[in-house]
Amino acid sequence: MMRFLNQHVPKAGKDMPAYYKHALVVSEVLLSGFFAATFFLVGWTADQWLAYPLVMLAIVLASIWANGRVNALVSIYAHEATLVFFCCWHIVTFGWTCGGQHLLIPVLMFCFFNIYDRPWKKIAAFLFLLGLRMGLFAYTIDHAPAILLGSRSLIVVQTITSLYTFVVLAVSFVHFSSNLQATERQLRIDNQKLSKEADTDPLTGLPNRRSMLQALENAPNDIYSIAIADIDFFKNVNDTYGHNCGDYTLKELANLFLACAPDRYSVCRWGGEEFCFYLLGKNLDEAGVVMFSVQQAVKNLALEYEGAKFSITITIGVAENDFRSPTAAILEQADQKLYRGKMNGRDQVVL
Ligand code: GH3
Ligand code: MG
Ligand code: MG
Repeated sequence: MMRFLNQHVPKAGKDMPAYYKHALVVSEVLLSGFFAATFFLVGWTADQWLAYPLVMLAIVLASIWANGRVNALVSIYAHEATLVFFCCWHIVTFGWTCGGQHLLIPVLMFCFFNIYDRPWKKIAAFLFLLGLRMGLFAYTIDHAPAILLGSRSLIVVQTITSLYTFVVLAVSFVHFSSNLQATERQLRIDNQKLSKEADTDPLTGLPNRRSMLQALENAPNDIYSIAIADIDFFKNVNDTYGHNCGDYTLKELANLFLACAPDRYSVCRWGGEEFCFYLLGKNLDEAGVVMFSVQQAVKNLALEYEGAKFSITITIGVAENDFRSPTAAILEQADQKLYRGKMNGRDQVVL
């Protein structure tokens, strides 16, 4: 609880979040109209040309000018103080029915959306505003308003106050919520992008080992086989035609695997020049047939890089789920069979 009340908040500089600044400026501009209207309204209807609304108008205009030039907290506090002050003056001058108490609601909003204040300050402000509202109400019970407005003037004052409050709240809420939604949307897009990147091999565009391990971890305890394929003498490709040609070969191979039988297996780049196939629903024999066709397709793949024509072969080890061993053990079995294939002369599928 204490940690929540005292939680860390950013230090205010001259800049403030765009959505907050927008709400503040809208409030200040409306408020200046409000002060000007109050000045003329009281002047005409009660024939009292009060300097007070004009002083407030000057303060608000100065605040608008000061936005972005002084510390954000100074701007925020000055605006809140202006509203609180004007609310008190309004109620003392025109009475409770003028609706000046509405002005405290935007103050509450500015307090709570202020990212620079710790929660305990917000709660203190909340209690202060609540107390002030009740105090002002109690005051009006045994104090007559300083200026008695006629019913038509009262309607006008109420309208101005309500308009100001509603417009400021509506504009701010639209801004605050759309900003929040936009941030959330962006976060979601970034997260999706990041998680796709984390699961993809950048060279071939295939899923990577991490992604395959995750898929295998979630593999149902059903019939499935795993195959590991390794390019034969791949080092020679690099040594003879260069590393870029090696990269080209890996990409061509990935495309072939994807084109070969995308519905019969999922394939990933297991590492270096090794690929791992996950054949769900296929027992060892069925997987052997699929992998044999893959092996033949690789053998028949005509590769050409910067004029040099060449071909490659792969060796594949296949193992099936025995319903007893963990996935890691099945992978290990496939790897051992691959090793056996290498020892036996390569370019083959070992079941
Ligand atoms: P083997 O038939 O026994 O598998 O022989 P090999 O030459 O394929 O195996 P070895 O493990 O000796 O060499 C693998 C080579 O693969 C070495 C390494 O430079 C190359 N390699 C691994 N990843 C990449 C890559 O992303 N791009 C390129 N161009 N080469 C890679
Ligand atoms: Mg290897
Ligand atoms: Mg190899």
